[in-house]
Amino acid sequence: MTDTAPQDVLREPYLYIGGQWSAGRGADLEVENPATEETTAVVTQASVEDVEAAIAVAREAFDGWAATPVSERAAVLRRARDILAERADELATIINREQGSPLKVARALHVDTPIAVIDATVEALERFPFRSELGNSVVLREPVGVVGAITPWNLPLHQVVVKVVPALAAGATVVLKPAGLTPLAAFALARAFDDAGFPPGVFNLVPGSGRVVGDLLSRHPDVDQVSFTGSTPVGRTIAAAAAETVKRVTLELGGKSASVVLADATDEQLATAVKVTVANCFLNGGQTCTALSRLVVPRERLAEVEELAATAAAKYTPGGRLGPLISAGQRKEVESFMVPGAGGDQAVTVTGDVDLPDRGHWVVPTVISRVDPESRLAQEEVFGPVLSILAADSDDHAVAIANNSIYGLGGAVWGGDDTALAVAGRLRTGQVDVNGGGFNPGAPFGGYKQSGVGREIGEHGIADVCETKAVQR
Ligand code: NAP
Ligand code: MG
Repeated sequence: MTDTAPQDVLREPYLYIGGQWSAGRGADLEVENPATEETTAVVTQASVEDVEAAIAVAREAFDGWAATPVSERAAVLRRARDILAERADELATIINREQGSPLKVARALHVDTPIAVIDATVEALERFPFRSELGNSVVLREPVGVVGAITPWNLPLHQVVVKVVPALAAGATVVLKPAGLTPLAAFALARAFDDAGFPPGVFNLVPGSGRVVGDLLSRHPDVDQVSFTGSTPVGRTIAAAAAETVKRVTLELGGKSASVVLADATDEQLATAVKVTVANCFLNGGQTCTALSRLVVPRERLAEVEELAATAAAKYTPGGRLGPLISAGQRKEVESFMVPGAGGDQAVTVTGDVDLPDRGHWVVPTVISRVDPESRLAQEEVFGPVLSILAADSDDHAVAIANNSIYGLGGAVWGGDDTALAVAGRLRTGQVDVNGGGFNPGAPFGGYKQSGVGREIGEHGIADVCETKAVQR
């Protein structure tokens, strides 16, 4: 950086390896504020040697951490949680400046949610069945070893916490590579872990590129499990790289989740369904993996739904409730879905144009109706504020449309309680919210089909990083 750089550019020149902060030997990386296109920070990245050092200390720390009593592991995690809670506003500011979310969203979604996840995971840890009996066997659940964690930019703190905290709870040690676009929240997390007093080497942070650092974590023989969140194409690459050493993989990938309004939904349920679906689809600028990006409704109610959706969408003003997209590249990609043609011949845009701020990676929040279920818009993950409305001729047809996807991550159903619960059971997807059921920070989280492998969070997240041993006597 030149000395004309703004004073408030953050500098993170150190990696966290073996409980020590050390200068990274890789190239420097500039972090941009996507809302303003200003430089937020300059970070030093890890070299191959740095990553190898981190894996070596994580391996060395493993036996001791795995043998540490559950109550002590829970106590350190609780201290880390309290430190994060004390620093919640500071964390929200960091996320606002690296990921662009408005401060209020940064605090509630990006900071308070992962804190709730830590609480639920610690609770699950204290009653986790590390030892159980089955006939003449004792069944032991033992931490897998070293976990390599690779995380995306959309939720820079949450996506790290949902991987790293269950792994540390289980007694595994971790080497984390955060997304290049948003490494700053991970530094703040490492500082909190350092202050909480984890033994050296239990948690290690090595920012750097996916191609170098991420690839090495996926291949290295001393990494026992690679846990990845991000795009489906990169997930395939990582799984292939991990196959060389038959490494265990956890993949949390893309989605194209459907919000299904059933024939027996009341007018009130329909109105709530549309409002909640728009809010969910536009959350975090549309950049969440569980975004309800397809709204499936009875054909005869289409006109009513279009009007309700346009009204709801109008509340999401860019720079107000709606944050920017993460990068110029992502904006270009998302805009390619905003032309009616992407949704098939009959598709119509029901939202209007809005003014966008001059600088930053903003897009117009968009609702497109009468979308063809086979079209690119209905089939591909957009990862931006674009909602598709699709018409169904019956509840069975609605289920078929919802399941017509390579993905299966989130979902919602609206209607009579019993019918809606029955339909939830027919959706090939990892989580379904019935009539507005809320996020449960202890519930298993993960995908069917090409949305992923494995489950994160709480008891299931701990089980995901454990081997199972049967001892007969
Ligand atoms: P991505 O390319 O899949 O990146 C996610 C993480 O993987 C980043 O840390 C990235 O490092 C790393 N990575 C990239 N290539 C790698 C490789 N060959 N080996 C190991 N690690 C590698 O995702 P993205 O580019 O950030 O976003 C693109 C799309 O991913 C989005 O449009 C969306 O569809 C999807 N996405 C899904 C989620 C989700 O929660 N399911 C979250 C974010 C994005 P770098 O930072 O160095 O690239
Ligand atoms: Mg990428």
